[in-house]
Amino acid sequence: MTSRLRSVWVTMLVALLTAALSAVLVADRGVARAADVPYKDPGLPVAARVDDLLSRMSLDDKVGQMTQADRSALTTISDVAAYRLGSILSGGGSAPSPNTASSWADMYDNFQRQALSTPLGIPMIYGVDAVHGHNNVAGATIFPHNIGLGAARDPDLAERVGQATAEEVSGTGVDWTFAPCLCVARNDRWGRTYESFGEDPELVTRMTTIVDGFQKAGNASILATAKHYVGDGGTTGGRDQGNTELSEADLRATHLAPFRAAVERGVGSVMVSYSSWNGAKLHGHKYLLTDVLKGELGFTGFVVSDWAGIDQLDGQTGFTASEITTAVNAGVDMVMVPNDYRRFVTLLKQEVQAGRIPMSRVDDANRRILTQKFRLGLFEKPLTDRSYTSTVGSAAHRAVAREAVRKSLVLLKNAGNVLPLGKSGGKIFVAGKSADDIGNQSGGWTISWQGSSGNITSGTTILQGIRDAVGSGAQVTYNRDGSGIDSSYRAAIAVVGETPYAEGQGDRTGSMGLDSTDLATLQRLKASGVPLVVVLVSGRPLDIAAQIDQWNALVAAWLPGTEGRGVADVLFGDHTPTAKLPVTWMRSADQQPINAGDGKQALFEYGYGLTYAGSSPSPSPSPSPSPSPSPSPSPSPSPSPSPSPSPSPSPSASPSAPSGGCVVTYKVNDWGGGFTADVTITNRSSSPVSGWRLQWAYAGDQQVTGYWNSTITQSGRQVTASNAAWNGTIGGGGGTASFGFQGTYSGANAAPTAFTLNGTACATG
Ligand code: BGC
Ligand code: BGC
Repeated sequence: MTSRLRSVWVTMLVALLTAALSAVLVADRGVARAADVPYKDPGLPVAARVDDLLSRMSLDDKVGQMTQADRSALTTISDVAAYRLGSILSGGGSAPSPNTASSWADMYDNFQRQALSTPLGIPMIYGVDAVHGHNNVAGATIFPHNIGLGAARDPDLAERVGQATAEEVSGTGVDWTFAPCLCVARNDRWGRTYESFGEDPELVTRMTTIVDGFQKAGNASILATAKHYVGDGGTTGGRDQGNTELSEADLRATHLAPFRAAVERGVGSVMVSYSSWNGAKLHGHKYLLTDVLKGELGFTGFVVSDWAGIDQLDGQTGFTASEITTAVNAGVDMVMVPNDYRRFVTLLKQEVQAGRIPMSRVDDANRRILTQKFRLGLFEKPLTDRSYTSTVGSAAHRAVAREAVRKSLVLLKNAGNVLPLGKSGGKIFVAGKSADDIGNQSGGWTISWQGSSGNITSGTTILQGIRDAVGSGAQVTYNRDGSGIDSSYRAAIAVVGETPYAEGQGDRTGSMGLDSTDLATLQRLKASGVPLVVVLVSGRPLDIAAQIDQWNALVAAWLPGTEGRGVADVLFGDHTPTAKLPVTWMRSADQQPINAGDGKQALFEYGYGLTYAGSSPSPSPSPSPSPSPSPSPSPSPSPSPSPSPSPSPSPSASPSAPSGGCVVTYKVNDWGGGFTADVTITNRSSSPVSGWRLQWAYAGDQQVTGYWNSTITQSGRQVTASNAAWNGTIGGGGGTASFGFQGTYSGANAAPTAFTLNGTACATG
């Protein structure tokens, strides 16, 4: 017998023994043998399997299927079985320790074994926000955020990005991504602008090929989510979770269109938006969820609510029985609770038993959820397919990401054809806070919810990409803030822009310009007289009209992710730039919202993008109803004052104390052992506060583990939060500054009772 044959025999024997053993185990539990129950027969049509399974389910089973808990909220892992949980998620940054692909897979399998241990053995479905690659997992490939993919305008590429992401997600067991965002960003003040493919519903619709990438990835297929339904990108003022004030015709034309396309592609789930339409919350909107989405559009997948989204229906914190009833009766099939799932299960069951939620609605929700689980093959292959685990961060996927990066770079200015740069001869100076920073170039939703600056995961920084491109051909000097440059350099490359944020933390209500750090760096470089190439790393257009005249070239790189070599590919001419603006570029922040066709004079029109002289495609902007800027290298914005460092204070600036009082609100989202807090400072005095420091003490052992929109230090129980560069001034007469943080604790998590702002006590609100 050859060794191959021998191993086939051994495999068959093991399989037989396993089958016999599991039959005994199943029989022991008093349930019919696998072969006898139709829902376990993969040969039957999905609808027949769903019918059969549904007929065997108790109300507890059905309520459980409609419940989704965050992994970190689980009191004990056996609750997955005890409460018959249909789904578990990882919110942004909710990862096992150590954060490796194989420990994700182990975690997943452990949850799944719990689900399989229930009498009917219905597998749970695990969801994550894989919104630009499998971004919670350290070492995963991080792709450009959607705004970059929109700039690339390449539906086939978007599909391949989806497929590569699906493979990495599958390799960790996970079955479902809360992506793509089919948001149509109409106001760049919105903190989620970068999650949008662009301002034009047609462009967003073209990018729905990414749904096919996720869902048609062969054995690695995962469920996709079209989110956030509907109108999330159209809120007044670009406020996250705000109110979209539009006629029904406009809502349909601008915001519904991409969802229609995703439904046609068979998207498995749709996530409801936190936002409202003309004052009515989407989470309770029966007309839009049931009549339009499920009825008119013919959506057969399931509707999932957003993170604690149903809690917002009555404006009070936490959820109530009547909020559950409103949401489920409006058409929500699965609720992302995500914390107090035990109470949720109790209340949902009560509401059904009291007849306030019809049984037919519960059955419909279950039918939809189970149909997707069968389609995904979860009943046949409930555990991680480890053959994909090694694809996490693989060279093949990084190559796709690098291609996506170079295709997403929009060349906005190239005076005197300074680009592409030659690879050999002389010296090149590289500077800027995002030149050598994987965290900055990846943006929000990377390793943590908010993302963060620094060496947070593996990849190639833009600086390293530049070094790799020139090799030994030229000398590359790097200094973060531009110190040390002189006229001996042939070119200076400044990589500047935004630092990471996610969701409402990224809303910009005031100025939208570069921060004082960037302006100072740019000024140092400019003063040397060396030709200056600016690479802007940002989630949206920034207000740069006052500086652009000082720059020889400008490349909008968006949030490229881990493959910085894609930037060098274009800077050094290995590839010509082909991308076009997916959003209109403002001339000043007060033009927001600004969109193609609205008659406002843009700095760069929607669809604008240059390429290198002598290469195709043509640099002409794509057709746009309003006058286009000339494709000549300099759009010459006016006026052009010198780039003096912005007045925004740094934490070290000498702080002023408010005289008329301050009020602090401290809002906590707690899941037992862990929490996030949102803090808002209101300045009631008549004069502005410039440079702030908020201090408090905890009564318990709370420990801050991460923060955003401020810098936080903690010494024992004393906590100090200092302003970030962009929110250092709190206007007088009611101006506010907000920041947030994550923390852990044991025991109680009592809110602090006293705060001081720059040494002066504040009221609590
Ligand atoms: C985010 C989650 C995040 C959580 C923290 C939510 O709004 O979507 O992913 O972990 O906030 O509280
Ligand atoms: C976000 C969603 C996300 C969910 C789960 C929410 O805060 O709005 O986009 O899918 O959290 O992390």
